[in-house]
Order: sequence, then C-alpha cells, then structure tokens
Amino acid sequence: MATTPVTDLLARTERPDPVLDATAVAGWPAGALDQLTRMGLLAAGSPAATAACDACGFDHVEVVRWEPGHPPRARIPCPECRVVWLDPAALARWVVRLPVLARLVASAVGAAGEVVERVPGRVWKLGPVRVAGRVWAGHLALGLTRPDAAAVVERVPELRAPHALVLVPSVVPAEALWASDRVPPVVPLCDLLALGPTGPGVDRDALARALPAAPRARAEGAGAGVPHAPRQDLGAGDTHRRGAPPPGPGRRDGGPVRVRRGRVREPPQEEHPERPVGAAGRTRATPRRTRHR
Ligand SMILES: [Zn+2]
Repeated sequence: MATTPVTDLLARTERPDPVLDATAVAGWPAGALDQLTRMGLLAAGSPAATAACDACGFDHVEVVRWEPGHPPRARIPCPECRVVWLDPAALARWVVRLPVLARLVASAVGAAGEVVERVPGRVWKLGPVRVAGRVWAGHLALGLTRPDAAAVVERVPELRAPHALVLVPSVVPAEALWASDRVPPVVPLCDLLALGPTGPGVDRDALARALPAAPRARAEGAGAGVPHAPRQDLGAGDTHRRGAPPPGPGRRDGGPVRVRRGRVREPPQEEHPERPVGAAGRTRATPRRTRHR
C-alpha cells in the first residue's frame, strides 16, 4: 500500500512520540515537507540522539556527539572505524504539532465551533459536523490502540453519545475498547485526508459513505432524538471497512483531492510497534556518513 506524506504523518500521531525522522521524509515529494512545516503541522525538533553505525560489520547503535563549529559536526564512536562522521541533515527530526492537526482536521471536515482539547494530546472535540444530512459531534482521537486507550475514552463521555463521530489518524480500535452499549462510528483519516494546494482536504462523499445511516448501538432505542438521514445500504459491520470513494477524484471546494481506498490496519500490539529489535531507543535514521580513520 503506497503511502503519502499525510498518511506517514497520521500514522506517527498514533504513537506516544509523534516524530518523523529524516528517513521517514526522505521519500516524500519535493516541497511536501516545506508545505507541512509552513502550515504549522510539522515543527523542527531536536536531532536524533542516537544513530546506528553502518560503516562497519557490527550492528551497533551509539549516542551522537556533536563537535562545535560552523556548522557543528556530528559523530559516533565505532570499534572498527574509531570515529564515524554523520551528515547532520540525516539526524534531523520533525515533531507533529497535534493541536494544529486537530484544527486542520476540524476545518477539513467542515466542523463548526471551537476545537477543544478534551484529553491532553489524545482527544479533541471538533464541533458539529454535518454529513449526509445528519449532524455529528465530531471528535479526533489519537492512539486508541495504546494500552491506556480505555482510560482515555472513559474520560470523554461524549464519545459514546448517539451522534458521536470519532475520527482517528490511521488505526481503528477493536470494539472492545468501548466498554459500553454504544460503539461510535470510527473513521480513519488516512483514507479521507489528502494534501491539496491550500492544505488538507477531506472527501466528504467518502466520509458520508463511511458513516452508518443510523447510530451504531447494541441497545434498543439508541437512535432516539437523532435526526435520520435517508437510509443507506451500509451494514453496520462494514462501517470500518467502507470509506471507499466514488469513482473519479474526490473534490472539496472544487479542488482535486486524492482519495485512497478504505482499509483496516491491524492495531499495533506494543507501545512502540516499529522499534527495532535489540536496540531500545535507537533511531531509525541511517545517515549517510563518511569514514575518517
Ligand atoms: Zn561501526
């Protein structure tokens, strides 16, 4: 499955440390990093503190040491090469600014009202979102497959309201997360959100298709008081798998928006699912380096 800068960025926000390193952005189209930085979605972070050595035959990760100068130089020790100099650009990292993401998502889905952070760094209330003739209480929730996710959603009772809509970056949690009679529709943004010339856009038709026609509930009478839209042929069990766009490019405000086919990703089993084995805390950066003996 091909990724885009937006899907890369969204996937990182599911983690406790939403950071992109130089390797992660190396394959991005020209200008994408600048655009996301100008929008405030990414901010330059501290450089990687550790780096893996690929100058020798040993698989080792070392703490990066900086030598003052103009510009400063970075190096790691190596048992074979003694010193391996690193390209500082390869140690660069960018932090995803989550409050900016929440505001941009609210704007992209057309949410009205104020964006309110309900659980720090995890859940934002986006405001009312009108989709397919119904008004939803839009929320953005991150990391719903982390070990503490149940405690996080427990702090926001509105997430289980009859008209709640939960947008997640990329990973849909198991229904067991919602320890209640009501499971809200959960829609992954990675299938809806695309970067246009003026910023992120959401294909609203695809969003509408991803939502059930009636509130998802295990209890009877769950839809009381909620305005009903014309019935769509969409089974409740398919909710997380839908999101497939109509044929042709999706559009928002007349501008082209790329839409990717719906998918369901396996939730990560660990807090740091992509951490390399055998090197706790090591960076994934594989900087270019020159060898000096
Ligand atoms: Zn080495």
